[in-house]
Amino acid sequence: MKQHLSFEFSAPRNPEETARLLKVHNKLKVFSPDFFSVTYGAGGSTKEGTKHAVLDIQRLGSRVAPHLSFGGDKPEKIDELLREYQKAGVKRVVALRGDMPSGQITKMTFARELIEFIRKSTGSYFHIDIAAYPETHPDSASVESDIKFFKNKVDAGANSAITQYFYNADAYFRYMDNCASCNINIPIVPGIMPITNYKGIVRFSKNCGAEIPRWMLKQLESYQDQPNSLKAFGLEVVTELCEKLLDGGAPGLHFYTLNQALPSASILRNLNS
Ligand code: FAD
Repeated sequence: MKQHLSFEFSAPRNPEETARLLKVHNKLKVFSPDFFSVTYGAGGSTKEGTKHAVLDIQRLGSRVAPHLSFGGDKPEKIDELLREYQKAGVKRVVALRGDMPSGQITKMTFARELIEFIRKSTGSYFHIDIAAYPETHPDSASVESDIKFFKNKVDAGANSAITQYFYNADAYFRYMDNCASCNINIPIVPGIMPITNYKGIVRFSKNCGAEIPRWMLKQLESYQDQPNSLKAFGLEVVTELCEKLLDGGAPGLHFYTLNQALPSASILRNLNS
């Protein structure tokens, strides 16, 4: 792909998961992505897993971006982590507010404050990615306030953004228009979630506020006990979504891999064929 391409991994929780993840990384490396990224567990619960996976991927010669959030940590702790990444040659981070594990309630530090902190601590060294929500973040009071707070993150020093996943291309194009009218000019790369499992995608979408259009949901529902048909349908609709996005001017694609190579690789092969 000539446009931007990146792959996101969920942070591994143990050495076995790390080993599996590195194998998936090796399979996806053939697509020459701009970077791989590794999530930071809810409330920072997989901090060590994130760090080890990031440093391993960096050692394997790929560009990698750790996700990062305050998650209850003191600034000194984040500063230490940033220096460690910097020392290892990591040049990019995904700065987030983060989500807490279900049941835990604590005041979360907005992503803007983390961006300000990173800029204060390490200047312009890191390329900072941020999260964007074409279907509006679930906590937002309105579309306008969501865009306003998104702009605050850009003004604080973010370089580019990755969106929450969505299955309706119009939501992305409308979001881009809204951003343009607010003078937000950073690249906003659509996040792509392949579909391979009915229960998983329904649960996940409910949690993060991503809409599955009714016609898709109904079809997925009818295929829930036919994994091959479900995967074929998922591949077809997500490939079409990617085509629409790229044809409409999206700067590239960011794949939520869920630590599997095949679903993202199949979509990319379809796009390249
Ligand atoms: P923010 O930009 O801080 O916004 C959060 C909410 O608060 C929004 O509704 C916003 O409009 C509102 N808001 C912002 N500023 C203010 C203010 N000053 N006053 C009032 N309201 C305000 N979660 C993880 O735990 N780990 C990960 O690794 C991870 N990776 C992700 C990667 C991507 C690409 C995306 C899209 C999401 C990811 N998430 C991750 C989920 C993310 O942490 C959640 O969606 C979280 O709820 C919001 O994070 P944010 O950085 O967008 O927050």
